[in-house]
Amino acid sequence: MLKLSKRLQAIADYVTTGSRLADIGSDHGMLPVYLLQTGKCPAAIAGELNRGPYEAAVKQAADAGLSQLLSVRQGDGLGVLQPGEADTITIAGMGGSLMSGILEAGRLAGKLDGVNELVLQPNVGEELVREWLLKHSWHLQAETILEEDGKIYEVLHAVRALEADRLNAALYDGAFLALPYASEKKMEIIKAMGPYLLRRPVPVLHTKWRQELAKLASICERMAGSALPEAMVKLEQFKEQMRTIEEVLQCLPTDIPSSS
Ligand code: SAM
Repeated sequence: MLKLSKRLQAIADYVTTGSRLADIGSDHGMLPVYLLQTGKCPAAIAGELNRGPYEAAVKQAADAGLSQLLSVRQGDGLGVLQPGEADTITIAGMGGSLMSGILEAGRLAGKLDGVNELVLQPNVGEELVREWLLKHSWHLQAETILEEDGKIYEVLHAVRALEADRLNAALYDGAFLALPYASEKKMEIIKAMGPYLLRRPVPVLHTKWRQELAKLASICERMAGSALPEAMVKLEQFKEQMRTIEEVLQCLPTDIPSSS
């Protein structure tokens, strides 16, 4: 049986047992092969845009003796799916902008009809994914943050829920943040940093945002020499962003143990 990385394992763990899976941007098809091998999924589709990874996934399925259960398809995003073919969609290892673009194009084409669960691991731009989920009434049921090989990843688990909007309203209510900000600003913070992650701020969450602060500080340092008015406006925005991150981090507990 394949051994998954910690990141892919966290994604696999969120997939509901018995669901028909579509892994989009599957690369070598590791995730669907693993989920078929464990019996967690009875059938799966691996979608890949590019020829090289598509062929690697075809080979992976054949080597594992799973060509009958894993349908490997080359194409763009959810375009490889017929409506109703999958219960769970996983998309991992790409930016939040590309990921929400794939979800939106798929939604407009009806490819999400019948899909009950999304497991998403954006490499950057997590706020764009949370924003898309909120806008289209997917309930964010859980999320996790983990570190592997010096990189930090977030995994989001969203489901269809009858009262998704009500559940999300409670989840994104910023009252739990002890900061004197307007609710709109708190909402932006929660979308960026994660509603569950902020409520249970494990050490790696602090690490992630300390790293983000260091990146912003180095950008500000480089911009400080510029006399261009646009650069000065941008610089002020970055400084404001840094102040906000600092204030949020200061109001979060630092004694939450890591979950694993
Ligand atoms: N999902 C795997 C993982 O998390 O380990 C692979 C991630 S890999 C960095 C991203 C993959 O997405 C690449 O194989 C790339 O070819 C594929 N990809 C990028 N844009 C895509 C799209 N619009 N539709 C399908 N696949 C896409």
